[in-house]
Amino acid sequence: MTLDLAPAATTSPYLTVEHEAFRESVRAFLHREMAPHAAQWERERTMPRPVWRKLAGQGLLGLQHARAVGGEEKDIFHSVVFLEELGRLGFGGVRFAVALHAYMATSYLASDGSHALKERFLRPAVAGELLAGLAITEPQAGSDLSRLSATAREEGDELVVDGEKRFVVNGGFADFFVTAVRVGEAHNGTGPAAGGARRDLSLCVIERERPGVHVSANDCVSWRASAMADVSFQGVRIPRANLIGRRNGGFVQIMKNMQLERLAAGLTAVGDAAHCLEITWRHLKRRGAFDATLSTRQALRHRMADLLTEVEATRQLAHYAAWSYARDPLSITACSMAKLKATEVARTVAEECQRLHGADGFREGAALVQIVHDAQAATVAAGASEVMRDIVVQSGYEESHDHR
Ligand SMILES: Cc1cc2nc3c(=O)[nH]c(=O)nc-3n(C[C@H](O)[C@H](O)[C@H](O)COP(=O)(O)OP(=O)(O)OC[C@H]3O[C@@H](n4cnc5c(N)ncnc54)[C@H](O)[C@@H]3O)c2cc1C
Repeated sequence: MTLDLAPAATTSPYLTVEHEAFRESVRAFLHREMAPHAAQWERERTMPRPVWRKLAGQGLLGLQHARAVGGEEKDIFHSVVFLEELGRLGFGGVRFAVALHAYMATSYLASDGSHALKERFLRPAVAGELLAGLAITEPQAGSDLSRLSATAREEGDELVVDGEKRFVVNGGFADFFVTAVRVGEAHNGTGPAAGGARRDLSLCVIERERPGVHVSANDCVSWRASAMADVSFQGVRIPRANLIGRRNGGFVQIMKNMQLERLAAGLTAVGDAAHCLEITWRHLKRRGAFDATLSTRQALRHRMADLLTEVEATRQLAHYAAWSYARDPLSITACSMAKLKATEVARTVAEECQRLHGADGFREGAALVQIVHDAQAATVAAGASEVMRDIVVQSGYEESHDHR
């Protein structure tokens, strides 16, 4: 029993023969170029440059991006397939490093960046030559964006940025950070800027090499290969042209791009859960007990059946969300549901599969230990489950014309 994500196209009404052929080539690439090294990258908390260029060589860092910047401009279901397969590798840090670069940070440049910013940052990011981080969260501000306090003071044609960012995926090696700031306010360094509100947010690109940028490793136990870091900006001067989109347009940009972020988080979680079931079923088939193998015990067979059903139902929801997103990038309800359901299911699957591995699942260094850590973190990153539920209630009931 496996959750085979690559059988006939009939497993999802949205996937064509072309998508499944693409899946075969992506899977072959990931297994050849990434699987043999991913455990080492997770241990060493890094993803080396050459693998990014190989991903780019396959077009995998620009599936969604325009041909004008070197992207592939493929339909959303190519990304669906890629993100599921990336998740299915079974390495949380690797999948999130790539997903963040290709679907979460660079998406702001694609949607709102000027031509000059696209040429300076997006084109090289699609080519795997420059790597991206997304610096939004702060010590005093996570779920509640109105509490963000990093500021960018205006001085002629420059902005001077001060502030602290936390949990920046790819922070250890990113060449630039897409950063949320408040333009024009004094930074008090302790909490919400005076009059702090969502409408005052702006996004800008800050290059790692600029004087005043300090990066320190974040010791998060999850997603290790993503080289998570804390980033401090102290009097960092950037050209005003580094603003992405209009001044004070940040909150709207975040709302717009977060749907893709949630979708990507959900799809990688589906792949992660499928991988977890696969390794667990293999384990149950090998593990002898009571004159047979554990895979023959009805209680375990039924549990695996329930988990498999949950994952497949979740996968269909995520595909629906992708379809919905392709029609309307502001598909808030569908994308939030997909993120909520997929990351929660992946967490449940990981925790149950750890138990089904018996004591071996709890050994220091056991694959399941890291899988559980990574799956738990995914229910917080890119918006905690409680926040997703708030959004689903608000957008699904209160703002929906269908339900009035
Ligand atoms: C692995 C990982 C990677 C991350 N990567 C990045 C990154 O690359 N860039 C970046 O900027 N940030 C990143 N983050 C930060 C992430 O966006 C925040 O952790 C998230 O938004 C939650 O914020 P917080 O941690 O400050 O939790 P808080 O806002 O302090 O919330 C704590 C907990 O309270 C609960 N909660 C929050 N709000 C509500 C509510 N309205 N109702 C009920 N319960 C609620 C949730 O359970 C939540 O987990 C990452 C986080 C993790 C764990």
